[in-house]
Amino acid sequence: MGDYQDEPPRLRAGQPHCPHCGLPVDRTATDEHDWVLLEPDMTPLAHVVPPQHRWITRSDGRVTVYAVSPPDPTQRCRIEHRLACAAQPLPDLWPWLTTLRTENHRRARRRAEPAQDWPDAG
Ligand SMILES: [Zn+2]
Repeated sequence: MGDYQDEPPRLRAGQPHCPHCGLPVDRTATDEHDWVLLEPDMTPLAHVVPPQHRWITRSDGRVTVYAVSPPDPTQRCRIEHRLACAAQPLPDLWPWLTTLRTENHRRARRRAEPAQDWPDAG
């Protein structure tokens, strides 16, 4: 068998499967000479996907992250299978929203605490 790294992903016999859930995935070369497991047959509009999770296909067949913000409203993208995999934990897709939720949790807890009695200074 030849060098697996040089084979175009679409020409390989058999489709790879997710090692976690067993569903088929598209193992696709990235422009950084790595591989990414993409969700097959799904191309959502880029603006509904967090910027760091949008993959677009280049003319050479490799994929790259499409972090343009704001994205072209008609641009479609691919997503990693791990975002849709039921057997893997969902990564933090919107870190700023997670930070806001954490802060609001802290604020709500502070409001629920009884007011502290200050020592009598007089
Ligand atoms: Zn999976």
